Amino acid sequence: MLQVVLEKPEHFTVREAEPPTGDANNALVRVNRIGVCGTDIHAYYGRHPFIRYPVVLGHELSGTILELPTGNHELNVGDRVSIEPFRPCGDCHACKRGKSNCCLTMALIGIHIDGGMQPLIRVPPQYLYSSSRLTLDQLAMIEPLSIGSHAVQRSGLQAGENVLVVGAGPIGIATAQFALLAGASVTVMELNEERRKWVSKHLAVETTADSGEACYEVVYDATGNPQAMEKSFERCAHGGRLVFVGILKARIGFDDELLHRRELTLFASRNSCGDFPRIIELIEQGRFDPSPWVTHRMQLAEVPSRFTELFETSGLIKALIEVPEE
Ligand SMILES: [Zn+2]
Ligand SMILES: [Zn+2]
Repeated sequence: MLQVVLEKPEHFTVREAEPPTGDANNALVRVNRIGVCGTDIHAYYGRHPFIRYPVVLGHELSGTILELPTGNHELNVGDRVSIEPFRPCGDCHACKRGKSNCCLTMALIGIHIDGGMQPLIRVPPQYLYSSSRLTLDQLAMIEPLSIGSHAVQRSGLQAGENVLVVGAGPIGIATAQFALLAGASVTVMELNEERRKWVSKHLAVETTADSGEACYEVVYDATGNPQAMEKSFERCAHGGRLVFVGILKARIGFDDELLHRRELTLFASRNSCGDFPRIIELIEQGRFDPSPWVTHRMQLAEVPSRFTELFETSGLIKALIEVPEE
Protein backbone atom coordinates (compact mmCIF):
# COMPACT_ATOMS: atom_id res chain seq x y z
CA MET A 1 0.00 0.00 0.00
CA LEU A 2 1.07 3.61 -0.58
CA GLN A 3 1.84 5.71 2.53
CA VAL A 4 2.40 9.45 2.59
CA VAL A 5 5.41 10.04 4.83
CA LEU A 6 6.67 13.33 6.22
CA GLU A 7 10.38 12.49 5.95
CA LYS A 8 11.59 15.75 7.47
CA PRO A 9 10.20 19.28 7.74
CA GLU A 10 8.67 20.47 4.46
CA HIS A 11 9.31 17.16 2.70
CA PHE A 12 6.60 14.58 2.03
CA THR A 13 7.25 11.40 0.04
CA VAL A 14 4.94 8.65 -1.16
CA ARG A 15 6.33 5.28 -0.14
CA GLU A 16 5.30 1.65 -0.68
CA ALA A 17 4.75 -0.10 2.65
CA GLU A 18 3.78 -3.58 3.73
CA PRO A 19 -0.01 -3.55 4.47
CA PRO A 20 -0.79 -4.32 8.13
CA THR A 21 -3.07 -7.16 9.19
CA GLY A 22 -5.42 -7.40 12.16
CA ASP A 23 -4.22 -9.38 15.16
CA ALA A 24 -5.42 -10.61 18.55
CA ASN A 25 -5.43 -7.06 19.98
CA ASN A 26 -6.07 -4.84 16.99
CA ALA A 27 -8.76 -4.24 14.42
CA LEU A 28 -7.74 -3.62 10.83
CA VAL A 29 -9.34 -0.41 9.58
CA ARG A 30 -9.53 1.08 6.10
CA VAL A 31 -8.87 4.81 6.42
CA ASN A 32 -11.45 6.87 4.49
CA ARG A 33 -10.98 10.50 5.57
CA ILE A 34 -8.16 12.41 7.22
CA GLY A 35 -8.73 15.89 8.65
CA VAL A 36 -5.87 18.39 8.43
CA CYS A 37 -5.33 20.60 11.44
CA GLY A 38 -2.95 23.14 12.94
CA THR A 39 -0.90 20.37 14.53
CA ASP A 40 -0.16 18.92 11.08
CA ILE A 41 0.86 22.34 9.83
CA HIS A 42 3.30 22.76 12.79
CA ALA A 43 4.64 19.26 12.12
CA TYR A 44 5.12 20.06 8.44
CA TYR A 45 7.18 23.16 9.22
CA GLY A 46 9.19 21.44 11.98
CA ARG A 47 7.62 23.57 14.71
CA HIS A 48 5.97 20.78 16.71
CA PRO A 49 7.73 20.23 20.05
CA PHE A 50 7.30 16.44 20.33
CA ILE A 51 7.50 15.18 16.77
CA ARG A 52 10.11 12.81 15.35
CA TYR A 53 10.73 12.18 11.66
CA PRO A 54 9.95 10.31 9.50
CA VAL A 55 6.29 10.18 10.52
CA VAL A 56 2.98 9.32 8.90
CA LEU A 57 0.71 12.24 9.86
CA GLY A 58 -3.06 12.05 10.31
CA HIS A 59 -4.91 12.00 13.65
CA GLU A 60 -8.44 13.16 12.65
CA LEU A 61 -9.65 9.95 11.10
CA SER A 62 -12.68 8.07 9.91
CA GLY A 63 -12.63 4.61 8.42
CA THR A 64 -14.31 1.27 7.88
CA ILE A 65 -13.62 -1.86 9.92
CA LEU A 66 -12.16 -4.69 7.80
CA GLU A 67 -11.15 -7.16 10.53
CA LEU A 68 -11.85 -7.41 14.26
CA PRO A 69 -10.12 -9.42 16.95
CA THR A 70 -12.41 -11.99 18.52
CA GLY A 71 -13.85 -10.79 21.81
CA ASN A 72 -16.62 -8.98 23.46
CA HIS A 73 -17.12 -5.64 21.74
CA GLU A 74 -19.99 -3.83 20.14
CA LEU A 75 -18.38 -3.43 16.74
CA ASN A 76 -18.90 -5.27 13.48
CA VAL A 77 -16.88 -5.74 10.32
CA GLY A 78 -18.10 -3.11 7.85
CA ASP A 79 -18.91 -0.49 10.51
CA ARG A 80 -18.03 3.11 9.73
CA VAL A 81 -16.00 4.48 12.61
CA SER A 82 -14.33 7.50 14.08
CA ILE A 83 -10.85 6.64 15.35
CA GLU A 84 -9.75 8.19 18.64
CA PRO A 85 -6.06 9.09 18.26
CA PHE A 86 -5.06 9.42 21.94
CA ARG A 87 -2.97 6.59 23.39
CA PRO A 88 -2.69 7.20 27.16
CA CYS A 89 -0.62 4.75 29.24
CA GLY A 90 -3.52 3.82 31.55
CA ASP A 91 -1.17 3.53 34.49
CA CYS A 92 0.14 6.97 35.50
CA HIS A 93 -1.23 9.30 38.18
CA ALA A 94 -3.43 11.20 35.67
CA CYS A 95 -4.75 8.03 33.97
CA LYS A 96 -5.62 6.43 37.31
CA ARG A 97 -7.54 9.57 38.31
CA GLY A 98 -9.68 9.46 35.14
CA LYS A 99 -7.76 12.26 33.44
CA SER A 100 -6.15 10.20 30.68
CA ASN A 101 -6.26 13.28 28.41
CA CYS A 102 -3.24 14.63 30.31
CA CYS A 103 -1.44 11.29 30.68
CA LEU A 104 2.22 11.74 31.64
CA THR A 105 3.36 9.80 28.58
CA MET A 106 0.48 10.56 26.21
CA ALA A 107 1.11 9.39 22.67
CA LEU A 108 -0.96 10.66 19.76
CA ILE A 109 -1.18 8.71 16.53
CA GLY A 110 -0.08 10.88 13.64
CA ILE A 111 2.46 12.69 15.86
CA HIS A 112 4.32 10.36 18.20
CA ILE A 113 3.42 7.17 16.35
CA ASP A 114 2.41 6.70 12.72
CA GLY A 115 -1.07 7.96 11.88
CA GLY A 116 -3.62 7.76 9.13
CA MET A 117 -2.08 9.04 5.88
CA GLN A 118 -2.19 5.48 4.53
CA PRO A 119 -5.04 3.23 3.35
CA LEU A 120 -4.91 0.70 6.22
CA ILE A 121 -4.12 0.96 9.93
CA ARG A 122 -4.28 -1.27 12.97
CA VAL A 123 -6.29 0.10 15.90
CA PRO A 124 -7.21 -1.39 19.30
CA PRO A 125 -11.03 -1.75 19.18
CA GLN A 126 -11.56 0.40 22.29
CA TYR A 127 -10.51 3.45 20.22
CA LEU A 128 -13.16 2.85 17.52
CA TYR A 129 -16.58 4.56 17.71
CA SER A 130 -19.10 3.43 15.12
CA SER A 131 -22.19 5.14 13.78
CA SER A 132 -24.40 3.96 10.94
CA ARG A 133 -25.98 7.44 10.69
CA LEU A 134 -22.93 9.69 10.48
CA THR A 135 -21.09 10.30 7.21
CA LEU A 136 -17.39 9.58 6.82
CA ASP A 137 -16.82 13.37 6.78
CA GLN A 138 -18.65 13.82 10.09
CA LEU A 139 -16.84 10.88 11.68
CA ALA A 140 -13.47 12.41 10.72
CA MET A 141 -14.40 15.60 12.58
CA ILE A 142 -15.19 14.03 15.97
CA GLU A 143 -11.59 14.50 17.18
CA PRO A 144 -11.33 18.28 16.62
CA LEU A 145 -14.89 18.62 17.94
CA SER A 146 -13.85 16.76 21.08
CA ILE A 147 -11.20 19.40 21.78
CA GLY A 148 -13.90 22.09 21.87
CA SER A 149 -16.25 19.89 23.86
CA HIS A 150 -13.57 19.25 26.48
CA ALA A 151 -12.76 22.98 26.76
CA VAL A 152 -16.43 23.74 27.47
CA GLN A 153 -16.57 20.96 30.07
CA ARG A 154 -13.41 22.28 31.76
CA SER A 155 -15.09 25.64 32.33
CA GLY A 156 -18.23 24.14 33.89
CA LEU A 157 -20.26 26.38 31.58
CA GLN A 158 -23.83 27.10 32.68
CA ALA A 159 -26.84 27.97 30.50
CA GLY A 160 -27.27 31.70 30.12
CA GLU A 161 -23.63 32.60 30.71
CA ASN A 162 -21.94 35.16 28.54
CA VAL A 163 -19.08 33.66 26.59
CA LEU A 164 -16.27 34.96 24.39
CA VAL A 165 -14.35 32.60 22.09
CA VAL A 166 -11.15 34.17 20.78
CA GLY A 167 -10.05 32.73 17.43
CA ALA A 168 -12.31 31.18 14.78
CA GLY A 169 -10.20 28.28 13.56
CA PRO A 170 -11.80 24.81 13.74
CA ILE A 171 -11.09 24.51 17.48
CA GLY A 172 -12.57 27.94 18.26
CA ILE A 173 -15.60 27.11 16.14
CA ALA A 174 -16.00 23.74 17.89
CA THR A 175 -15.76 25.48 21.28
CA ALA A 176 -18.39 28.03 20.21
CA GLN A 177 -20.64 25.20 18.99
CA PHE A 178 -20.51 23.32 22.33
CA ALA A 179 -20.96 26.57 24.29
CA LEU A 180 -24.13 27.17 22.24
CA LEU A 181 -25.36 23.63 22.95
CA ALA A 182 -24.78 24.33 26.67
CA GLY A 183 -27.18 27.29 26.38
CA ALA A 184 -24.60 30.08 26.61
CA SER A 185 -24.77 33.38 24.81
CA VAL A 186 -21.70 33.32 22.56
CA THR A 187 -19.53 35.94 20.88
CA VAL A 188 -16.66 34.90 18.61
CA MET A 189 -13.75 37.29 18.21
CA GLU A 190 -11.69 36.88 15.05
CA LEU A 191 -9.48 39.33 13.14
CA ASN A 192 -9.95 37.67 9.74
CA GLU A 193 -13.07 39.12 8.12
CA GLU A 194 -13.68 36.13 5.86
CA ARG A 195 -13.70 33.79 8.88
CA ARG A 196 -16.01 36.16 10.78
CA LYS A 197 -18.45 36.04 7.86
CA TRP A 198 -18.24 32.25 7.79
CA VAL A 199 -19.00 32.06 11.53
CA SER A 200 -21.99 34.44 11.30
CA LYS A 201 -23.38 32.39 8.45
CA HIS A 202 -23.04 28.98 10.15
CA LEU A 203 -23.46 29.57 13.90
CA ALA A 204 -26.00 31.49 15.97
CA VAL A 205 -23.36 33.69 17.57
CA GLU A 206 -22.29 37.33 17.58
CA THR A 207 -18.97 38.06 15.90
CA THR A 208 -16.52 40.89 16.45
CA ALA A 209 -13.02 41.88 15.39
CA ASP A 210 -12.36 43.31 18.87
CA SER A 211 -14.49 42.79 21.95
CA GLY A 212 -13.25 46.15 23.33
CA GLU A 213 -13.97 46.79 27.01
CA ALA A 214 -16.73 44.19 27.26
CA CYS A 215 -16.18 41.47 29.87
CA TYR A 216 -17.40 37.89 29.73
CA GLU A 217 -18.16 35.26 32.37
CA VAL A 218 -16.11 32.71 30.42
CA VAL A 219 -13.38 33.42 27.87
CA TYR A 220 -11.89 30.63 25.74
CA ASP A 221 -8.64 31.32 23.93
CA ALA A 222 -8.31 29.18 20.80
CA THR A 223 -5.48 31.15 19.20
CA GLY A 224 -2.32 29.96 20.94
CA ASN A 225 -1.13 33.50 20.27
CA PRO A 226 0.77 35.01 23.24
CA GLN A 227 -0.59 38.57 22.87
CA ALA A 228 -4.17 37.32 22.52
CA MET A 229 -3.74 35.00 25.50
CA GLU A 230 -2.38 37.77 27.73
CA LYS A 231 -5.13 40.15 26.63
CA SER A 232 -7.75 37.51 27.48
CA PHE A 233 -7.32 38.12 31.22
CA GLU A 234 -8.74 41.62 30.68
CA ARG A 235 -11.71 40.23 28.74
CA CYS A 236 -12.94 38.23 31.78
CA ALA A 237 -15.63 39.61 34.08
CA HIS A 238 -15.12 39.76 37.86
CA GLY A 239 -15.42 36.17 39.10
CA GLY A 240 -14.90 34.90 35.54
CA ARG A 241 -13.13 31.89 34.10
CA LEU A 242 -10.48 31.79 31.41
CA VAL A 243 -9.75 28.62 29.45
CA PHE A 244 -6.58 28.26 27.36
CA VAL A 245 -7.45 25.79 24.61
CA GLY A 246 -4.73 26.94 22.21
CA ILE A 247 -1.27 25.79 23.21
CA LEU A 248 1.92 27.79 23.11
CA LYS A 249 5.50 26.69 23.68
CA ALA A 250 6.49 29.84 25.57
CA ARG A 251 5.92 31.80 28.77
CA ILE A 252 3.12 34.32 29.00
CA GLY A 253 2.57 37.00 31.63
CA PHE A 254 -0.44 38.46 33.40
CA ASP A 255 -1.15 41.18 35.91
CA ASP A 256 -1.63 39.57 39.31
CA GLU A 257 -3.59 42.55 40.59
CA LEU A 258 -6.11 42.07 37.79
CA LEU A 259 -6.29 38.31 38.46
CA HIS A 260 -6.91 38.93 42.17
CA ARG A 261 -9.19 41.92 41.89
CA ARG A 262 -11.45 39.92 39.58
CA GLU A 263 -10.78 36.60 41.35
CA LEU A 264 -10.37 34.86 38.01
CA THR A 265 -9.95 31.13 37.50
CA LEU A 266 -7.56 29.96 34.79
CA PHE A 267 -7.94 26.54 33.16
CA ALA A 268 -5.76 24.71 30.68
CA SER A 269 -7.59 22.36 28.34
CA ARG A 270 -5.71 19.52 26.70
CA ASN A 271 -6.98 16.85 24.30
CA SER A 272 -10.29 15.31 25.36
CA CYS A 273 -11.43 12.50 27.58
CA GLY A 274 -14.36 10.21 26.78
CA ASP A 275 -16.15 12.79 24.61
CA PHE A 276 -16.49 10.80 21.36
CA PRO A 277 -19.75 8.89 22.09
CA ARG A 278 -21.58 11.99 23.30
CA ILE A 279 -20.55 14.04 20.24
CA ILE A 280 -21.57 11.27 17.85
CA GLU A 281 -24.94 11.10 19.62
CA LEU A 282 -25.47 14.87 19.36
CA ILE A 283 -24.85 14.76 15.60
CA GLU A 284 -27.07 11.67 15.23
CA GLN A 285 -29.84 13.59 17.04
CA GLY A 286 -29.44 16.48 14.61
CA ARG A 287 -28.43 18.91 17.36
CA PHE A 288 -25.74 20.26 15.03
CA ASP A 289 -23.94 19.28 11.84
CA PRO A 290 -20.24 19.93 11.21
CA SER A 291 -20.47 18.94 7.50
CA PRO A 292 -20.39 22.55 6.21
CA TRP A 293 -17.09 23.09 8.05
CA VAL A 294 -15.32 21.19 5.25
CA THR A 295 -14.09 23.91 2.90
CA HIS A 296 -11.23 22.07 1.13
CA ARG A 297 -10.57 18.54 -0.11
CA MET A 298 -7.75 16.60 -1.71
CA GLN A 299 -6.82 13.01 -2.46
CA LEU A 300 -4.17 11.22 -0.38
CA ALA A 301 -1.77 10.94 -3.34
CA GLU A 302 -2.00 14.71 -3.88
CA VAL A 303 -0.69 15.55 -0.39
CA PRO A 304 3.01 15.96 -1.36
CA SER A 305 2.18 18.39 -4.18
CA ARG A 306 -0.85 20.22 -2.72
CA PHE A 307 -0.46 20.29 1.08
CA THR A 308 0.96 23.84 1.28
CA GLU A 309 -1.91 25.11 -0.90
CA LEU A 310 -4.06 24.82 2.20
CA PHE A 311 -2.14 27.56 4.01
CA GLU A 312 -2.12 29.85 1.01
CA THR A 313 -5.83 29.77 0.21
CA SER A 314 -8.10 32.03 2.21
CA GLY A 315 -11.31 30.80 3.75
CA LEU A 316 -9.88 27.52 5.03
CA ILE A 317 -11.89 26.08 7.91
CA LYS A 318 -11.40 22.31 7.64
CA ALA A 319 -9.60 20.37 4.92
CA LEU A 320 -10.28 16.67 4.46
CA ILE A 321 -8.02 14.23 2.64
CA GLU A 322 -9.89 11.42 0.90
CA VAL A 323 -8.34 7.98 0.64
CA PRO A 324 -9.41 5.95 -2.40
CA GLU A 325 -9.93 2.21 -1.98
CA GLU A 326 -6.99 0.33 -3.44
ZN1 LIG B 1 -6.19 17.95 15.04
ZN1 LIG C 1 -1.03 7.77 31.71
